[in-house]
Amino acid sequence: MNQIELIRALPKAELHVHIEGTFEPELMFAIAQRNQIQIPYQSVEEVKQAYNFHNLQSFLDIYYAGANVLVHEQDFYDLAWAYFEKCAEDHVVHTEMFFDPQTHTERGVEFATVLAGLKRACTDAKEKLGISSQLIMCFLRHLSEEKAFETLEQALPFKDDIIAIGLDSSEVGHPPAKFERVFAKAREAGFLIVAHAGEEGPPAYIWEALDLLKVNRIDHGVRSEEDEGLMTRLIAEKMPLTVCPLSNLKLCVVNDMADHNIRRLLQKGVHVTVNSDDPSYFGGYMNDNFVAIQQALDLNNDELKQLAINSFEASFISDEEKQKWIAEVKQI
Ligand SMILES: [Zn+2]
Repeated sequence: MNQIELIRALPKAELHVHIEGTFEPELMFAIAQRNQIQIPYQSVEEVKQAYNFHNLQSFLDIYYAGANVLVHEQDFYDLAWAYFEKCAEDHVVHTEMFFDPQTHTERGVEFATVLAGLKRACTDAKEKLGISSQLIMCFLRHLSEEKAFETLEQALPFKDDIIAIGLDSSEVGHPPAKFERVFAKAREAGFLIVAHAGEEGPPAYIWEALDLLKVNRIDHGVRSEEDEGLMTRLIAEKMPLTVCPLSNLKLCVVNDMADHNIRRLLQKGVHVTVNSDDPSYFGGYMNDNFVAIQQALDLNNDELKQLAINSFEASFISDEEKQKWIAEVKQI
């Protein structure tokens, strides 16, 4: 089996995907029309042309504009269902999806509406596609601590539907320390914790995520390599990094995929995983990310299998489920 065939055959878990970032232009147009909401683009082509980002902020501006068309429970269902169909194509058997309630509640959409649409898609994905899933609610870090506290309050009645709390959006200038208190409250309430850190932000943000937020996983974390002490700690604690190669390329975290450090991190013993982040915007879903790094970095079959195993080990499924999927990876 060559590497590309192996990538397709491997069962995989996705641990870093923003459901709003899976919004394909075609669906965005269809929902905009259905809801009679104007978007600042004339055609699907025009939207795609706008996806020429030079950093995280230029992407976020378009991302929030697209999310504006999501209003009804069915809109959130359709969004998530389209993503699950992509998972099925790529043999992603388990996914832990981020959602950003503040992107919607700030526009007057009810928290319960967002969650109901996503939950219904998760239930259908299990029944019809055999894909398991969890939801991770993220705070938008460019907004205030107070807003994050309000959002946590809104989430508490839905505690059983949300596995973890995360932190996303514009990283630089919004360190994890800003949210130390609200994450302490989230931990007390029984949520697991993840946070974006070390994508554009410095290694110091990763230390903060570990020490102040007490994360179970780091999202991105590719800049950890700049700090030897941090690398030692990540390896010792087997702290997972949810790495997103095509996102890093598209947002100029790396200038060339051949310069990406995921293989080096893997070889050094860091618990890295492969993920798509905002696949509609960054040019590819799970297998596209695997293929891109395989081709640029010449990953061998053992390394590809290790990445798939890491994805299950780093996931929030039960040990029994982890062992089942890891055994399946090893059999291929
Ligand atoms: Zn992300």
